[in-house]
Amino acid sequence: MLTVTTLASGSSGNAALVSCGRTHILLDAGISARRITTALKALGVPPQDLSAIVITHEHHDHVSGLGVLCKQIPAPVLASPATCRYLGDKLPQFRGRLQGQEPGTGVQLGEIWTESFSTPHDAAGSVGYSFSAEGRRLVLCTDLGYVTPEVKRAAEGCDLLICETNHDEDWVRTGPYPYYLKQRVLGDRGHLSNEAGAELAALAVESGARTVILAHLSSENNTPAHARAAVCRRLAAMGCDPERDICLAVAPRKETGPVYRLEEDGAAVAFALRGAALC
Ligand SMILES: [Zn+2]
Ligand SMILES: [Zn+2]
Repeated sequence: MLTVTTLASGSSGNAALVSCGRTHILLDAGISARRITTALKALGVPPQDLSAIVITHEHHDHVSGLGVLCKQIPAPVLASPATCRYLGDKLPQFRGRLQGQEPGTGVQLGEIWTESFSTPHDAAGSVGYSFSAEGRRLVLCTDLGYVTPEVKRAAEGCDLLICETNHDEDWVRTGPYPYYLKQRVLGDRGHLSNEAGAELAALAVESGARTVILAHLSSENNTPAHARAAVCRRLAAMGCDPERDICLAVAPRKETGPVYRLEEDGAAVAFALRGAALC
């Protein structure tokens, strides 16, 4: 069954594990290789068994552990051609390991069909990912300034959405960030606000998603409760009770989150690391 677990989420580092059967895909490597391998072992996945590493974009909080990890394990690294060019310059010793995947195309990685789609962000060629297996689909959509038609198409009809709710726009405007940083965060190539993320979450839920995990929260301009409240308001406005109708969670910033397993009916069951069911 298709499962997903976030290992870390936010501007201090991002990584997640997507698995189905014997296929294990690491999605971003923005924390240290040691933290990644420790988390994988805790999840029962020997790091050597990783089938592939897929990278959304070259920002530090998504690739900081990649170089050391590539020394330790033999998995191929997939990213957009523009991201591959950047990574090839930074990590020339692993250039042969990089595989360019045009945004908008898909590739079969073991048991998981992996599609990428372009995202508007201040990076070389950033993408989000859609993973499908056994008739279920999950989508990761973080690090984007606004929701494009491509992003909407990807989110529509998925079973589980990992959705960016980076900041409260007013908190950014009135907060301590310097002007240029405020412009960057709020701009078309920055990050999704709570309201914009809530809109995307609503679109996914309206089209059938039963699980939404809020991700990439700013530590200065957001809190988990604040992001969750914004999404709850938006879902309530369309008649959805997030406590009853769906599973709504916030990805922990620095620890491994629950394992979300997509069941045959499209709902996700969340398990704590030691196997106890959470919901
Ligand atoms: Zn990021
Ligand atoms: Zn970024």
